[in-house]
Amino acid sequence: MVNRMEVKLRGLTKRFGKTTAVNGIDVTFQDGKLTGLLGPSGCGKSTTLYMIAGLESVTEGDIFFGSRDVTTLMPEKRNIGLVFQNYALYPHMSVEENIAFPLTNRKHPETGRRCTRAECRQAVEEIAQLVQIEDLLKRKPGQLSGGQQQRVAIARALVKQPDVLLLDEPLSNLDARLRMEMRSEIRRIQQESKVTTIFVTHDQEEAMSITDEIVLMRQGSVQQVAPPHAMYADPVNCFAASFMGNPPISYVDAELRDGWAVLSDGLRLPCGAKAQGKVRIGIRPEAWSIGGDIPVELTSVEMRGQDQVVGFRLSGHEIRAILDAEQEARPGQRLDLRLRENRCYCFDPVTETRL
Ligand code: ATP
Repeated sequence: MVNRMEVKLRGLTKRFGKTTAVNGIDVTFQDGKLTGLLGPSGCGKSTTLYMIAGLESVTEGDIFFGSRDVTTLMPEKRNIGLVFQNYALYPHMSVEENIAFPLTNRKHPETGRRCTRAECRQAVEEIAQLVQIEDLLKRKPGQLSGGQQQRVAIARALVKQPDVLLLDEPLSNLDARLRMEMRSEIRRIQQESKVTTIFVTHDQEEAMSITDEIVLMRQGSVQQVAPPHAMYADPVNCFAASFMGNPPISYVDAELRDGWAVLSDGLRLPCGAKAQGKVRIGIRPEAWSIGGDIPVELTSVEMRGQDQVVGFRLSGHEIRAILDAEQEARPGQRLDLRLRENRCYCFDPVTETRL
C-alpha cells in the first residue's frame, strides 16, 4: 500500500451548545506513522476523530489531509478507513463480501471506472493476506471470534487503500489476552501498510506499547505531543506525569534548597533541580531501590512475581515504589531506600507545570 498523508488540525474547535468538547487544537499527525490520541473519558478524543472522519461537523478551524482542505467534505470524499469499537460487520455476508463491500460501488480514482470482479478479488486477497485471515474468507461473521471480527473490520477499512486509517478504541471489546495479541497485530499491519493511522484510546499502556507518537488530551486541549518514551520520561506537567505509568507517579511537597528537596519533616531527597523555593516533586515508582539512607516503613506490599509494589508514607504523602522481588517485603517492615534523581521531576505547585 502506498497512500501516505500527513493530517493537520489547525485551531480545531467543537462546541455542543455550552460544552466545548474540543478547544482550538493544533496537531500534526505524521505521514505514515501510528499516532495515539490519548486521554481520560470525556477529554474530546472521539469528537476529534469524528471531525477528522467528517462524521461530526467542525465549529471552528481547519483539517488538512496533505495540502487538501477536507474540513467541509463529506466522509465518503475523504478516503478514510474507519474501525470502531462496535463496527458491525454485515452478518448475512461472508467475510470476503464484507471486505469487498467498500469496493463494489467505488470508481477507480484515475480511470473513473468501477472495479472489475477480478480486481476486487485480488484486492480482497491481498488485504486478507496482510491481516492474516485468508482461511476465513468463506465464513460468516457469526462464525468468527472477537479478534477475528476485528481483523475483518480492519481489512474492510484498508481495502480501499485509504489515505488515513482511523481507529476508535478498537480493542475495548476484546478480552485481555486477545487485546494484547491484537495490539501487536495493529502495529504490524500499520507498519506493513504504512498508512497514516490515528488510534483513539484511554489506555496509556496500549498507547505506549504500539504508537510512534502520543497526543495527550485533557478537557478539549492538547497537553503534550511526544513519542511514548519521551512522554513518560519527560512530562510537561503533573497531568502528563500522572496519566502515564502504572503504578502511577507519587508526589511530595517540598522546598528546594541547594539541589536538595527538603520535606516538611526535614527529610532531604536528592534532586538535581537548580530552582529554589516551594515545589511539588514527582517520583516515579522505579526511582527507588533497597539500600540507601532514606528510612521508610512499609504500609502495603503487592508481590508481582518479577518485582513488588510497596507503599509507604513520606512526610504525610502516600508513595508507591517498585522494588526488586528478591528481598521479600511485608507490611510494617522498615527499610532504608535509595532514590535515583533521574526519575524525579519538579513541578510548580500552583500551575503544575514542570520546572
Ligand atoms: P470517551 O473516552 O468516554 O469516549 P472522549 O475523550 O472520546 O471520551 P468525547 O466523546 O469526544 O470524549 O466527548 C467530549 C465532550 O463532549 C464530553 O464532555 C461529552 O459529554 C461532550 N459530547 C460529545 N458528544 C456530544 C453530543 N453529541 N452532544 C453533546 N455533548 C457531547
